[in-house]
Amino acid sequence: MERDSTTTPTCIFCKIIHKEIPAQVVLEEDHYLAVRDINPQAPTHILLIPRTHIANVTEFEDVSELGRLFQAARTVAEHEKLERGFRLVVNTGADGGQTVNHLHIHLLGGRFMTWPPG
Ligand code: AMP
Ligand code: ZN
Repeated sequence: MERDSTTTPTCIFCKIIHKEIPAQVVLEEDHYLAVRDINPQAPTHILLIPRTHIANVTEFEDVSELGRLFQAARTVAEHEKLERGFRLVVNTGADGGQTVNHLHIHLLGGRFMTWPPG
């Protein structure tokens, strides 16, 4: 896919979307990519990454983008057979523990999730 103004050349997730670095892709759709996290925190740990570069939930303009991402989470959870449940996490900003500044949802499953998170 050709790069345009919606992507950032230095962003690691934009690089994954543009196949410039390898990733374990679970699903590839028009608006998002689902890839396995390189450092999994649960038996299933998948990242839902929108193709459009948005830093985090404080920056998006297109509200429907978020709806599509949650829809993607549901689709991937079904694909991964997480009938017993799962957890969606959106780390946001420094105190939120965000390390990659390209909006993404963590989909975690395959074990019981404790609460509160760290
Ligand atoms: P966050 O800390 O919420 O910004 O999440 C970023 C996630 O991206 C972390 O869980 C990392 O393990 C994951 N990650 C970083 N680089 C890669 C990569 N090249 N492929 C897959 N996952 C990655
Ligand atoms: Zn990006």
